[in-house]
Amino acid sequence: MQFRTDSRSGKELSALGFGCMRFPTSGGRIDVDASERLIVEAIDRGVNYLDTAYMYNGNEAALGEIFTRNPGLRERVHVATKLPVAHCEVTADFDKYLERSLERLRTDHIDYYLVHNVTSAEAWSRLASLGFEQWVNRQKEVGRICRIGFSYHGPKADFLVLLDSFDWDFCQIQYNYMNEDYQAGTAGLMAAAERGLPVIVMEPLLGGKLAGDLPKEARSALSDAGISDDPARLALRWVWDHPEVTVVLSGMSTQEQLLQNIETADTALPGSLQGAEVVAVELAREHIARSYKVPCTGCGYCLPCPKGVNIPMCFAAYNTSFAHGWYQGMHQYITASGAMVGEARFASDCVKCGACIEKCPQHIRIPDELTSVKRRLQIPGLPALVRLGVKMMSR
Ligand code: SF4
Ligand code: SF4
Repeated sequence: MQFRTDSRSGKELSALGFGCMRFPTSGGRIDVDASERLIVEAIDRGVNYLDTAYMYNGNEAALGEIFTRNPGLRERVHVATKLPVAHCEVTADFDKYLERSLERLRTDHIDYYLVHNVTSAEAWSRLASLGFEQWVNRQKEVGRICRIGFSYHGPKADFLVLLDSFDWDFCQIQYNYMNEDYQAGTAGLMAAAERGLPVIVMEPLLGGKLAGDLPKEARSALSDAGISDDPARLALRWVWDHPEVTVVLSGMSTQEQLLQNIETADTALPGSLQGAEVVAVELAREHIARSYKVPCTGCGYCLPCPKGVNIPMCFAAYNTSFAHGWYQGMHQYITASGAMVGEARFASDCVKCGACIEKCPQHIRIPDELTSVKRRLQIPGLPALVRLGVKMMSR
């Protein structure tokens, strides 16, 4: 296993982290036996970073059960889990959710604790006003939290604000070869590294879409360039090629995925991508981007929208639905709604005030395009369904 150093703590972390969110299931529930086999094998092969979250239904509890069944396993790994900020209304809620996570995980400390899915500087301000900073410092003093970070799905500009808002120990961003200019993007990765922060990467395969469902032209570009590597392996190696990346999370559900990822992680050292592979990725990116319908770069200049619509993320989801399939676009659309961190906002919340139009350097007719987003992705009853789902997950 390749290891990379957490630049803040000096800990050696496996370049491949296990994203527990996609534990194998059976009959709609987590299959703890199958998950145990995967986790034990991953750890035996060198993986030492496990990522879960309070909001991943049944996930922390399954991991806690696996630790109990395997004495000594917990001490061999760094556990990351996340605070459901959207459900924190008073300071005591921080304690409540941390205690529940510790109980479920059957541990007395969290190695890497994240504020889950911060999407804006305003979301951080709300958290700070609840006394989050003092609370974290107390938890660190008593050893319940070792390191504090945040996972991020908001616009680029706010990421930079967040980086400098608190003395973070690490951060977690969405990053892959299609998202260099989306959310934190390459600029965010570099800014975090400049501040000496370890960066954990999620969605290296864009929810699996850089693995199997590339548009035909993108696939041809790879084979024409003589790239025999399969698209998933190439996409992962592209992320690991960046020395600023510390850990890449992969949600693995099968032994085959686990073994392939471990093999890839072993050799994907920073700077190891060959020239022909770099060109092939650029070609694939071009073809995928060409299938996008709205030329939004994700710059975020149009924000904030007075109605809270996350304009760039709506367009990203819309584009994804053409390039990688409707279901992937829908998944992204729900994430873009901000449902996990507060009141969900959808394209349909646009009142066509026009305040955003002048701000867009790409001259996109934003309200009109949001109507297209609504037509394609907003199935009837979606807002109510999303709100209900979030409510159930927070129990
Ligand atoms: S036109 Fe719509 S998206 Fe643009 S600022 Fe107004 S409400 Fe927000
Ligand atoms: S809609 Fe325009 S201003 Fe808004 S993020 Fe996209 S490109 Fe930037």
